[in-house]
Amino acid sequence: MPKIVTRFAPSPTGVLHIGSVRTALFNFLYARQHGGTFILRIEDTDKERSKKEFEDNILDGLSWLGLKHDEFFRQSDRGAVYRKYLEKLIIDGTAYVSKEEPVEEGKLAEVIRFKNPKGIVTFRDEVRGDISFDTTELGDFVIAKDLDTPLYHFAVVADDFEMGVTHIIRGDDGISNTPRQILIQEALGAPRPVYTHLPMILASDKSKLSKRHGALAVTEYREEGYLPEAILNFVALMGWNPGNDQEVISFDEMLKLFSFEKIQKSGAVFNIDKLKWLNKHYLKTLPSKGVGEEILARFPEDLRKQAREHSEVFAKIIPIIMDRISAFGEVLELVSGGEIAYFFVDPTYEREALLWKDEKNLVRAREHLDKVYEMLQTIPSEDFVAVRIKDTLWDYATSAGRGNVLWPLRYALSGRDKSPDPFFLADILGKETTLRRIEHARRVLVSP
Ligand code: GLU
Repeated sequence: MPKIVTRFAPSPTGVLHIGSVRTALFNFLYARQHGGTFILRIEDTDKERSKKEFEDNILDGLSWLGLKHDEFFRQSDRGAVYRKYLEKLIIDGTAYVSKEEPVEEGKLAEVIRFKNPKGIVTFRDEVRGDISFDTTELGDFVIAKDLDTPLYHFAVVADDFEMGVTHIIRGDDGISNTPRQILIQEALGAPRPVYTHLPMILASDKSKLSKRHGALAVTEYREEGYLPEAILNFVALMGWNPGNDQEVISFDEMLKLFSFEKIQKSGAVFNIDKLKWLNKHYLKTLPSKGVGEEILARFPEDLRKQAREHSEVFAKIIPIIMDRISAFGEVLELVSGGEIAYFFVDPTYEREALLWKDEKNLVRAREHLDKVYEMLQTIPSEDFVAVRIKDTLWDYATSAGRGNVLWPLRYALSGRDKSPDPFFLADILGKETTLRRIEHARRVLVSP
C-alpha cells in the first residue's frame, strides 16, 4: 500500500468557514487513521481575489481547531512546477498554444489549451458510486494563460500529482470539476486518486447556508466563545455518522470510527441549535478555574473589578451563569440584560416595586421585612445557606402569605422582577449583604 496523502486545498478568497472545516477535518482524520500525510495547500491562482489576510485566517482557524498539517504549500510559490508540466504537455502534443480573439486592438492573445480526446470519463466516487461525464462539450479547454500563468484545474492536477495525493476529499461542488481534472491527469500520466465528494451543507430550511442561519467563520465562533471540540463534533456529524445516532463524539472516537462508507449522499443540514447544544455539553467538561476566567474576560472592566473584589459571590454565580449560556459570548447578553451586576452592587428601585401584586399596604410590607430581618439575624454567618434560610423563613411566609413576604425580600436582594429565588439569592450574597439590602428596602418603604 502506498502512503496515504490527503490535502485540504482552500482558496484564500474568504475566511475559513465552518462548512470548509468539515472538509479539512475529514482529510485530517483519514490521513491520521492511516499514518499518512495531511497537506494544507493554499490555492491562490486567482491573484485578484486571493488575500494574505484570508490565508492567515485559514491558518489561524485550523491551528485553533488542532487540525495540524504535515506539509504546507502555496500555489503562487510553485510556478516552476506548473511550467514544467505545461511544457511536457506541449511537447507531448496534448496541449497547444492557441491564438485567440484580440483582447486589445490588433493584438492576438495566446492561451494554452488542452487537447481534449472528447470521450466519456467515468470515475468512482466513494459516496455516490460510479459517475460518468461526456467531456465532448468541454472542447479544448484552456489550462493556462501562458507558461507562468496556469489556471485553476491545471494547478490542482499538477499539484496533486507532484505531492503524491492519493485521496481527494472535497465538497460535492468538486464533482463537476473532476472529469476535466481526470483528462489532465491522464495526459500527465498521473495516477488517479480516490475521490470522495462530501454532501452539500444546507440551512435547516433547505436554502443556501448563510450567516443568517448562524453559519460563521471559525474565528468568529472562537470570539463568541465556542470550543474547538464542539465545532469539530458538530461538523463531523454533518453528512457523516459513526454508525449509530450518537451525538457527542470525541476526537479520538472520530479518529477510530471515521470511514467513507458512512458518509451520506443527501445534503447535510446545518442546525445552529445543535452546535449550541454541543457547545454547552463541552462547556460542562471544562475545569471550573478556567471557566471563571473565561467569564471574567467577557465582563466589562468595572464589573470584572467588582467580581474580583467579591470573589466568593462570583464563585457562587458561576454555575448560574453556566446554566444560562451555551457559549461564553452569551455572557455579554446576561450582563447587558442586567442579570449579573446586582450580585455585586446593591440595587436601587422604586418603592412600589417592593410590593407584591395584591399588597397595597406599605406598613404591612415593611413589617414582613422587619420580621424576615429578625429571623435571618439568628442564623450564624457560617450556616447562612439556602436550605437553612428557607427553613427559617418558610413557616412565617406560609402563614403571612408567600408572595407578600418573599416578593419584597427577593426584590430587596435583586432589584429585579426576575431573579433566582430569595433563599438562593441570600445564600449567594451572604449574611452581611443580605441584611444590608433588606435594611435598605425597609428604609425605602417608609421614607416620605
Ligand atoms: N481550492 C478549491 C476551493 O477552495 C478546492 C479544490 C479541491 O479541493 O480540489 O474550493
